[in-house]
Amino acid sequence: MDDRQFRTAMGRFATGVTVIATEEEGTVHGMTANAFMSVSLDPKLVVISIGQKARILPKIKQSGIFTVNFLADHQKELSMVFAGQIKEPKEVEFDRLDGKPAIPGALAQIACEVAAEYVEGDHTLFIGRVTDIRLEEGEPLIFYSGRYRSLTAEPTV
Ligand code: FAD
Repeated sequence: MDDRQFRTAMGRFATGVTVIATEEEGTVHGMTANAFMSVSLDPKLVVISIGQKARILPKIKQSGIFTVNFLADHQKELSMVFAGQIKEPKEVEFDRLDGKPAIPGALAQIACEVAAEYVEGDHTLFIGRVTDIRLEEGEPLIFYSGRYRSLTAEPTV
């Protein structure tokens, strides 16, 4: 099995799209991620998986906090900005949830404190203890087989 086959297989798992946001020394940093999972109801825990080369990694380690923001179908551009797929710098306004930076208009904003971290291969798994949640109505942005989609429309990229 080569890397391409592994990536192709993983891409066949349809997911939503999140932006992970954190803040270190007053500077907010965001990153697009789809490696997200709900872990536990009692206590309320989630997990995210961040690549070792990602610039957000040391910032989450340092701050000990992050938010997970489930993007709506009209937020594809934000996903592309925070994935580095749009290179031009873009001014992004952030909400505050439990004092942590969050993406306005996200279907769910989930504020977390880092409860544990595990280095596994070339990624670090952060377990987040959920401290607050804010919800909005709407349809989700979907990522499948390397392309953005919506629940109803044809591929959008
Ligand atoms: P950078 O490359 O520094 O930042 C990413 C982009 O966000 C830059 O263009 C930067 O200008 C912009 N940005 C950051 N903060 C702000 C701000 N405050 N205001 C405005 N713009 C800002 N990688 C993973 O590790 N785990 C995953 O689960 C994962 N899932 C992904 C899912 C999808 C659908 C996609 C498209 C990518 C995914 N990636 C994932 C890859 C990851 O998003 C990119 O590799 C990303 O560029 C790495 O981010 P970075 O922290 O190195 O930050």
